[in-house]
Amino acid sequence: MHITSWYTHNFEDRLEGRYITLKHLEPILDSYREVFNISVAGVTQTGLEIPQVVCGQGPIKVLIWSQMHGNESTTTKALFDFFKFISSNEQNSASLRATHTFYVLPMLNPDGAALYTRENANKVDLNRDAQHLSQRESVVLKRLFDTLEPDMCLNMHDQRTIFGLAEGFPATVSFLAPAAEVLKTITPARKQAMALILKMTHFLQDHCPNQIGRFDDSFNHNCVGDTFSSLGVPTILIEAGHYKNDYNKEQTRCFVFYALIALFAPEDVKQNDIIDYKEYFLLPENKKNFKDIVLYNVRTSRDAILKTVCFQYNEVLKGNTIIFELYVDSIEVDLVVYGHQSFDLQGGKILLNSHENIDFDKKILTIFDINQNLMLI
Ligand SMILES: [Zn+2]
Repeated sequence: MHITSWYTHNFEDRLEGRYITLKHLEPILDSYREVFNISVAGVTQTGLEIPQVVCGQGPIKVLIWSQMHGNESTTTKALFDFFKFISSNEQNSASLRATHTFYVLPMLNPDGAALYTRENANKVDLNRDAQHLSQRESVVLKRLFDTLEPDMCLNMHDQRTIFGLAEGFPATVSFLAPAAEVLKTITPARKQAMALILKMTHFLQDHCPNQIGRFDDSFNHNCVGDTFSSLGVPTILIEAGHYKNDYNKEQTRCFVFYALIALFAPEDVKQNDIIDYKEYFLLPENKKNFKDIVLYNVRTSRDAILKTVCFQYNEVLKGNTIIFELYVDSIEVDLVVYGHQSFDLQGGKILLNSHENIDFDKKILTIFDINQNLMLI
């Protein structure tokens, strides 16, 4: 069966939306206790258990972690889709298990996940704690890395909707082979990471054309990926970004799942050496050139210069769901900026919440186009 049709019928439908916590994962992990080796990798600063899933029996040891930033749940959903695939009877699944052993921390920061914050319970960004190892969660990951001596690491994140590529495409999935030191030398480990990234991008280009990007490779030794890369282990950062009208990120999750299947496809393993890693540099670099909603050519005052008015959603946890609250983000004059949703006001005026003022602090409930007498939002 082709992987795309397998996915349509078999993805992990017990996980959906943006708010994914340990409570959501626990019953699913319980259902895998007979098939995978499920244990506790350690505890968080508040004492929550960090789950660890080990699956496969192959010689290639892969260390994977997701939700090190608590509010970045898309790759966690994709990992559970992946668990479903490798526990299935699909032919490719057996060969994938025979070639790899996966050591997965699907939620490194369960406190941040519950609070829907990037940081952990102590408000520490775990991806800036790779040297200090000041937090229990950081120690758990580093200890696993040290004892396991993995052949490959996957550092899985979400990226904000502000990231796009040239010519107005959103950066739906981005990759990085992190630098190992400030000069960004192409070390053997980086080379291997770049070749592996190309395995994924080659497959994804058919499903998500022009929306695959390359993340900035400035070196920061406080970042976990950079540290592991500097220790000589091929490490790949995967960033799940925005796809049109997909604020719950279910489509992006599917692309991340495809990327994992392409990455680990055993039939391609021997080809790693012959993929030219230099093609990695042809991937378009991420830019901060997108906003959630953009209004072009707005007359904001009596002066003749027309402005671009940009809006961003704030993600707010209410009860058990994430609410998207819209705010004015910036007013631009010359900057090229694209909108996931955009309108050309053609010199007309707007009313925000029925007022002419453009207020940065007020939640925007309505955007009205006066000239066309049209409610835009
Ligand atoms: Zn992140």
